[in-house]
Amino acid sequence: MAPDSEFANASFGKPDFDVVVVGSGFAGLYLLHKLRELGFSAKALEAAGDVGGTWYWNRYPGARCDIMSIDYSYSFDPDLETEWQWSEKYATQPEILRYLQHVAAKHDLRRDIAFETRVESATWDKDSSRWLIRTNRGAEITCRYYVMAAGCLSKPKEPEIEGCDCFRGEVYYTSRWPHRGVDFTAKRVAVIGTGSSGIQSIPLIAAQAKQLTVFQRTPNFSIPARNGPIPTHRLADYEGDRAGYRERARWSRFGVPIELAEIGAMQVSEEERRARYEAVWEAGELVGIGLAFNDIILNPKSNETLCEFIRGKIRTIVTNPETAEALCPTDHYVATKRACLDTNYYETFNLDHVRLVDLRKTPLARITETGIDTTSESFEFDAIVYATGFDAMTGPIVAVNITGRNGVTLRNKWADGPLSYLGLMTTGFPNFFAVTGPGSPSVLSNMTVSIEQHVDWICNCLKDLRDENLEVIEPTATAEAGWVQHVNDCANITLFPTANSWYMGANVPGKPRVFLPYIGGTDAYRTACNEVVARGYLGFVRSGSGQRRVNDGVIRRLQPDVQMLLEAMSALNLPPLEEMSPEAARAFSSELSAVRPPGPEVGEIVDGVLPGAGGDLDYRLYRPATAGPHRVVVYFHGGGWVLGSHDSDDPFCRDLCVRSNAVFVSVNYRHAPEHCFPAAAEDAFAAVRWIADHLETLGGVPGPLVVCGWSAGGNLAAVVCQMARAADGPAICGQVLVTPVTDCDFLRPSYNENGADYVLTKSLMNWFWDHYADPANRTDPKASPLRANDLSGLPRALVVTAEFDPLRDEGAAYAEAMASAGVEVKHLPCRGQIHTSLTAVDMILSGAGARAEISAAIRQFFHQVEDLVMRNN
Ligand SMILES: Cc1cc2nc3c(=O)[nH]c(=O)nc-3n(C[C@H](O)[C@H](O)[C@H](O)COP(=O)(O)OP(=O)(O)OC[C@H]3O[C@@H](n4cnc5c(N)ncnc54)[C@H](O)[C@@H]3O)c2cc1C
Repeated sequence: MAPDSEFANASFGKPDFDVVVVGSGFAGLYLLHKLRELGFSAKALEAAGDVGGTWYWNRYPGARCDIMSIDYSYSFDPDLETEWQWSEKYATQPEILRYLQHVAAKHDLRRDIAFETRVESATWDKDSSRWLIRTNRGAEITCRYYVMAAGCLSKPKEPEIEGCDCFRGEVYYTSRWPHRGVDFTAKRVAVIGTGSSGIQSIPLIAAQAKQLTVFQRTPNFSIPARNGPIPTHRLADYEGDRAGYRERARWSRFGVPIELAEIGAMQVSEEERRARYEAVWEAGELVGIGLAFNDIILNPKSNETLCEFIRGKIRTIVTNPETAEALCPTDHYVATKRACLDTNYYETFNLDHVRLVDLRKTPLARITETGIDTTSESFEFDAIVYATGFDAMTGPIVAVNITGRNGVTLRNKWADGPLSYLGLMTTGFPNFFAVTGPGSPSVLSNMTVSIEQHVDWICNCLKDLRDENLEVIEPTATAEAGWVQHVNDCANITLFPTANSWYMGANVPGKPRVFLPYIGGTDAYRTACNEVVARGYLGFVRSGSGQRRVNDGVIRRLQPDVQMLLEAMSALNLPPLEEMSPEAARAFSSELSAVRPPGPEVGEIVDGVLPGAGGDLDYRLYRPATAGPHRVVVYFHGGGWVLGSHDSDDPFCRDLCVRSNAVFVSVNYRHAPEHCFPAAAEDAFAAVRWIADHLETLGGVPGPLVVCGWSAGGNLAAVVCQMARAADGPAICGQVLVTPVTDCDFLRPSYNENGADYVLTKSLMNWFWDHYADPANRTDPKASPLRANDLSGLPRALVVTAEFDPLRDEGAAYAEAMASAGVEVKHLPCRGQIHTSLTAVDMILSGAGARAEISAAIRQFFHQVEDLVMRNN
């Protein structure tokens, strides 16, 4: 395109469009088509010479998709699905490029694309509510909406190696491969980088070159692609019901319709584990890696079994043991960096003319005029290939100088990491959208599925604005902060943040270390996006034609695993406990408990009996595996004084025992309605007394105890502290009250906010209270410890509350009241948690932080005692 010729005929001022799109890869092409279909005027600006995006630029030998071709394709045009036949399981770059060229031609898209046109800046003009776009060709264009479909992996990362410019031989970048192709015959070639592009290209370069030297800084996990015809079962599935197949892909975890594993790696025998891993190795499918077991990206132990399996394969394939070891990744968990699919990658290192240089042992010093120097050797080459990856996700966006409201640039706003709402928009930059932007599933999914979903969402949003006579849309700061928090919450329960990956921005010097994509799943993400719209564009301000509609709010406030648990429970349609008899409710709770993960191993578990206030009580003692004697914690289980027993909080007790390195004695107490108030409280106090008197027999250290309890057990722990104060003993040095019942009043806001949807409901609490205590007794401090006239002199306390718990406010009130009475109290409010989630060990991973804090508090309570003893000596 000659400078400005494209727009020279505009009849007024600058050329103006409803929408300017950046890019003409999978995303830009579909955007243009959809916008046109909806009657918007649109122009795409593309730096490349033609359509294709990724598949235009990345022409290196061996470049292929690593999601199966039938999945890695558009679904918006059913005719396209029948007229285009993929020749292989994983199509080559030329075939994918031909496909995109075909789509562009079929829908006559090129007429709205300006090629070889790079967008350099975009500036929001608040007076006209339009974006002013400037290109490298000097063109100025205005538009109402500015959409960056600029790709996640379209900004190559420059190699930061000394002397890069001085090499006199041939230089190639996998991401900018010459269109004419390259012949390496009879040449000495170096490849720097062993990410996906390196792994795909190395075997083919080796097949041509006289000599190939691979410079590897970090080895990556790769499994064989086993390319060839599309597997028949998959093809049959697809062709049998294309629409259904696509719909399943849309609602799958990663955008590929394959079954999720339902079991964790450590829950099966070693033989079964190995059999599953062999199946993954044989299937040659990227998403299969993370789906071998349901905890591969969650549990370090599970993940390590797969790492070791793949390392075993590498050691078997590569004949030189030193090379094999160098190729074995040891610095990250599998799948936490984008794993690779290869064809004969590891086998290539058995060829005599191929050599691996391990840069961890002998770092790269500089590029010279004739080759490469490491710290220990000089190499001479005819050609150097850089396979050094991309400045991923944010790179292409901030490469454009984007200025939003009040002159704020996006580069500045994102200096410490990207902030976005749904990965689609960012506050302060009205009418600016990103396709597959940071904060959306993007690179953690089949991108064609994610691209189509984003394009559909954006286009429908523009249509809704038009239909409602609105022009401007922008996310609120609250909505954006909430989403960023949710994205981080999702990442933080996985192993992803542990890796120095490009997902974390770790491959680019100076880039903030932030987990960029959304790992909550394409299904969960789609649900959130749809819900935002269904709730009237929740989290957005929309304005125009004299209207301003503010719909502030946060779309996801629960922790992601809590949300999943609630959804799973809701799908089971469980009967409400309060509609059962106490016996039936007890049996039902026991059934549920039987299928939960068991919690960690402890050193020893001993069951025993101790005298309660009205007869013998069972107890279960958990002893740490470390050398004793240990300090002792007396624990009271939850269950609304009606349900549960000394072993019903087993996983929680094990977890706290291990983490706090203390003996836990979980005490049963008499339950209502057979034994009403104050039976449970009196039993709890009797148990504490007996345990205090028998510490040494129990293998404990003599001295004060800590009492701890959850829910109704938290109530008993609080009551016991008040009773011990009144009775002048036994000595208690700390109380840990986890989402405790502290008051019989249902009027606090948390009862209204959280009384219906979060497992512990208002009606269930009513049922518990009705069984436990007559209305006249409920205000007794032994039932409602918050009602005590005087809370001074109580032991130090940790009070843990959950945001979505009806009991949240009474827990907080008790913490506050104790603090006001001079008690040393720490209140730990747990964001996004519900009443039952903190105790759900190995089910609710986001509760692990709270359990760590509880254990730290217990250790601290005991340390304070020990300090005191030392000082007094
Ligand atoms: C080698 C390789 C293999 C891949 N394999 C897979 C796979 O198997 N499965 C999968 O899901 N994903 C894969 N990906 C990710 C791939 O990028 C996406 O699947 C998809 O192609 C992205 O399409 P897009 O249109 O969003 O972006 P792109 O295809 O990257 O297109 C963006 C376009 O925007 C243009 N552009 C950027 N900035 C500007 C600017 N300022 N001005 C003008 N133009 C600009 C670029 O030139 C580019 O053409 C792969 C990526 C690579 C690099």
